[in-house]
Amino acid sequence: MTTDMPLRVSADVALTNELIAFRREMHADPEIGLHLPRTQARVLEALKDLELEIVLGTSTTSVVAVLRGGAVPDRVIAGDRPAVLLRGDMDALPITEKSGVDFASVNGAMHACGHDLHTAGLVGAAKLLHSVRAQLPGDVVFMFQPGEEIFAGAQAMLDEGVLRASGGRPIAAYGVHMASDAPAGLFTTRPGPYMAAFGQLDVSVQGRGGHGSRPFQALDPIQVAAEIVGSLQTYITRRFNVFDPVILTVGEFHGGSAANIIPDEATFKAGIRCFSAEVQGRLAVELPNLVESIARAHQLTADAVFDLKLPVTENNAGEAEFWAATAADLFGEERFETLQFPKAGSEDFSKILLEVPGSFGHIGAGSPDVDPSEWAPLHSSRAQFDDRVLGDQATFLATLAVRRLSAANMSAGVSAGGSAGVSATGAA
Ligand SMILES: [Zn+2]
Repeated sequence: MTTDMPLRVSADVALTNELIAFRREMHADPEIGLHLPRTQARVLEALKDLELEIVLGTSTTSVVAVLRGGAVPDRVIAGDRPAVLLRGDMDALPITEKSGVDFASVNGAMHACGHDLHTAGLVGAAKLLHSVRAQLPGDVVFMFQPGEEIFAGAQAMLDEGVLRASGGRPIAAYGVHMASDAPAGLFTTRPGPYMAAFGQLDVSVQGRGGHGSRPFQALDPIQVAAEIVGSLQTYITRRFNVFDPVILTVGEFHGGSAANIIPDEATFKAGIRCFSAEVQGRLAVELPNLVESIARAHQLTADAVFDLKLPVTENNAGEAEFWAATAADLFGEERFETLQFPKAGSEDFSKILLEVPGSFGHIGAGSPDVDPSEWAPLHSSRAQFDDRVLGDQATFLATLAVRRLSAANMSAGVSAGGSAGVSATGAA
């Protein structure tokens, strides 16, 4: 089968308005964690008129929907059907909303990270791609994920086989994240490290309590824990390359009950971000060693546990270039920016990108009702989003899938020595 015209998908005003209404309903009724029954029901309702193969999570309320394209060339044997994975996360945060929007949540949770828009935009992409399914030269896996904020949802979906949902492994995976403090409709990404790896260091220092007037008869865990906190920062600046940076923040420190008592124990927790697997591997070994060695030098003991919670969100260079070129082509060069630096936040889509080449990026959604100097960041109780970006978000995700599948078929045709059966005009 040959198509002369490149396949185009674009959200119209009616679809954009439908997605805005869907998003606002979801925003008013947020759910937290891995179990989002009302959100899952809303997604299933929105998809119910589409011909999709749907698999629901068993350990979570995830939704995996597979759209079968009707234009996979005959030479592409079953099992080798190309598939692209598109992901949207669905969970909210335990924040009391103070955004002031008239569809604000009142249940003590809040979509302060824009995951309501991620879900709505993915529903829109499913509708757009469904409308051209007969001409689609491959399959699309829609990954509706719970539990991103607790770094558990992507792993649960991997464990339940999201990468086998269409048969073969997807050839590429894409996702977007809203930015509440960037101009609406501005697309940003970069090749290579895009968001930080995240690890947590839990430390407990055991001493021997005593009277505050006679520290020489005790083993003071607070003094030693404080020295360890300072030494961790020193160690990072001396032992790690500044061009492969590490950010360490001690966000919790506990010990003691009164000014004249030396306690038995002090504890603290640090969040640690970095931008390469090599550095994260070193941190996991060297920081516990430093902690335990300093405690030992003072004749105390310490337990230090490093939990590697998330890997680096690593954009494949070619896929990031394709992501960027698609945004610039669809919406104009002025609406795309290559980020100079990675973002120091973390994202569990990183686990998908460890398995499948792909790219992740942000879409600005700063509110038109708020002065840009007052735009609240993600995770703020005041965060607001311009949901008019939903149409472009859906168009963008759907176009990534169309162009990537077309390009894959073209290269399959070339490597098979035949002419490409499907025009990939427009594929980057
Ligand atoms: Zn988020």
